[in-house]
Amino acid sequence: MKFTETAASSSAKFKRVGVVGGGQLAAMMGDAARALGIELVVQTPDATDPAVSVAAGAVLAAIDDINATAELAARSDVITFENEFVDLDGLRTLERQGVLFQPSLSSLDPLLDKYVQRCYLKGLGLPTPGFWAWDCSADLPIDFPFVVKVRRHGYDGQGTFIVNDRESFESIRAKLKGQSLLVEKFVPFDRELAVIAARSANGEMAIYPIVETQQENQVCRLVIAPAQISLDVKSEAEAIVRTLLNSLEAVGVFGIELFLTSDNKLLVNEIAPRTHNSGHFTIDACETSQFEQHLRAVCQLPLGNCDLNSAGAVMVNLLGYESAESDYLEKRQQLAQISGAFVHWYGKKVSRPGRKLGHVTVLLDRELAQNAGKSASAIAQTVESIWYTS
Ligand code: ADP
Repeated sequence: MKFTETAASSSAKFKRVGVVGGGQLAAMMGDAARALGIELVVQTPDATDPAVSVAAGAVLAAIDDINATAELAARSDVITFENEFVDLDGLRTLERQGVLFQPSLSSLDPLLDKYVQRCYLKGLGLPTPGFWAWDCSADLPIDFPFVVKVRRHGYDGQGTFIVNDRESFESIRAKLKGQSLLVEKFVPFDRELAVIAARSANGEMAIYPIVETQQENQVCRLVIAPAQISLDVKSEAEAIVRTLLNSLEAVGVFGIELFLTSDNKLLVNEIAPRTHNSGHFTIDACETSQFEQHLRAVCQLPLGNCDLNSAGAVMVNLLGYESAESDYLEKRQQLAQISGAFVHWYGKKVSRPGRKLGHVTVLLDRELAQNAGKSASAIAQTVESIWYTS
């Protein structure tokens, strides 16, 4: 892995970073932290969580445990997040006592509830799918097809339901009764895009090459970098991201997911106030990884170069397909034989269907990158034929 400035530690304003969350996103910050001379302390429930072994210290507690975050604050100069399932009101008490959060709690505030996030986007005049708050009442909220989402704590498609007919409507209504929900128009998108961007405290912005993401059952399967889009779409997506991050006064890396319709219109699907799965390609394929970039922004170092270091890249997620305790070493060794492949393994102790266990990034040469869509399908098939067969 390359780092843009090896002796950066001397200029970092903050050298001890507390991270709320200890999953793979925090773990992947580990290498970058070491190279920048920054110490990570994580708050995460379990000693076997991926980031615990790479961090200098850990506070073993739930993500929304405020006493634990107070302890994290005592051991860090600044606190950041790899997980947004936090208790914002509790954190505000700590902020009033002088704890520094980056991104700030006011940046997180409009993003944590999907309905509130949609209202925020609308308020900024940014394009989103049509949406309504919904209380699970008997009446159809809008005509089929539509999408129902839980307003908080949804991830990897858990909590997102595409509703095509009366039967699925009734079953989802029964399942979600009593929860605060968001209903939105189903968007018959042509493609899904994602933008990983960083903003620093002084307003400097760095935007990575825009990627195409492909989901299966609402979970990201693969990412193609760069997305094959027109210059107009690229400029519009970047303008949306600039408006958004400036308005939020964001500090750190944010992931913004977009729908691209067949008539080249962009709609914002979701904003994640943290590093993002669609940015994992940056570790091997860019001059500065999203994890290094996030630490740079949070610790007030100059932002790094976002350029690709190869003609392109394809990232394929390795999702659990069984309940097991295995390190799948043999499969990982086979995956590493794929030309141009970098295998990342999160070291989770337990595998469950759908759980993100690792990912593979394959760098593309110029010839493969010219037909990235076709190359991506072939690469995904190669990776998955190794990963998903017993
Ligand atoms: P999560 O927060 O769990 O990732 P998302 O809201 O991003 O959930 O939805 C997951 C996936 O579901 C999206 O990437 C997309 O493929 C599909 N999806 C979500 N909302 C819509 C929509 N309004 N129209 C069509 N597909 C959607």
